[in-house]
Amino acid sequence: MLQVGPWRIQSVVTGHVRLDGGAMFGVVPRVVWERLTPPDEKHRILLATRTLLAVHDRAQRVVLVDTGTGHKWEPALAERYGVEPIPAAIEAALARLDLGPDDVTDLVVTHLHFDHCGGMTEWEAAPGGATRLRFPKARHWITRRHWDHARAPTLRDRASFFPHDFAALEPAGVLAFVDDPHQAEGIPDVNWQISSGHTPGQLLPRFNGGSGERDVLFVGDLVPTTAHLPPAWVMAYDLVPLTTLAERVALWKQCREDDFLVTFPHDPQHGIVRLAFEQDRPQIGEVLG
Ligand SMILES: [Zn+2]
Repeated sequence: MLQVGPWRIQSVVTGHVRLDGGAMFGVVPRVVWERLTPPDEKHRILLATRTLLAVHDRAQRVVLVDTGTGHKWEPALAERYGVEPIPAAIEAALARLDLGPDDVTDLVVTHLHFDHCGGMTEWEAAPGGATRLRFPKARHWITRRHWDHARAPTLRDRASFFPHDFAALEPAGVLAFVDDPHQAEGIPDVNWQISSGHTPGQLLPRFNGGSGERDVLFVGDLVPTTAHLPPAWVMAYDLVPLTTLAERVALWKQCREDDFLVTFPHDPQHGIVRLAFEQDRPQIGEVLG
């Protein structure tokens, strides 16, 4: 695990998905992106789903960021998206620290797309029936703006939301809304950033290393993989691509100034990375997890 100030942090691969390569790279031509990530015979590229596990011993907080696709998949739909969850990957990572699912105090839900939040819940009994929380003691942090959007998505993005992934949250009373990134209520030594190019109100947690240490920012689908470091390589899935572009330009400017570490949700190889900049162009500097 990576130690940054009070936090022990690890990027855990919870499974893989295969999504259409053209959709993942938007207006970038295939002849350019296929050199970085070769597609399969169905034109899909391999992506990991990653959960960030962060432990703050002094504050007694065990934090998860996102939970992957989970296991509530019909075979035909799993086949379409190449969904291959690694069962109990999060439980195994917790067990290595002598922790269990009930020890998770906080779950940060960046957004409610199925490949980020499916693992929050599992079937209570039969598939297709009621669901229950997988980390029942955790406060589930999400922006109210995204929560409202996910329950009334547009025709363009409604295929990305499965209501059964998040139906159990409200009745369980575990929702903790972030309305303002500077609000007092939150997780100790975590700052919030909110990004809205990919989807409204995506919540990005920044783990503070404290004096002399670097912070670690989970960038969510603002930058899904290290292949998406160039600001203009924006996914076709993004609802407001020019906002994504502007948010990435601002992010890399901030990263050059603050030298924080970056952790990605979908990169198949790299979990936590220190970026290096050639002029203002970000590239992989050092891989730390
Ligand atoms: Zn997404």
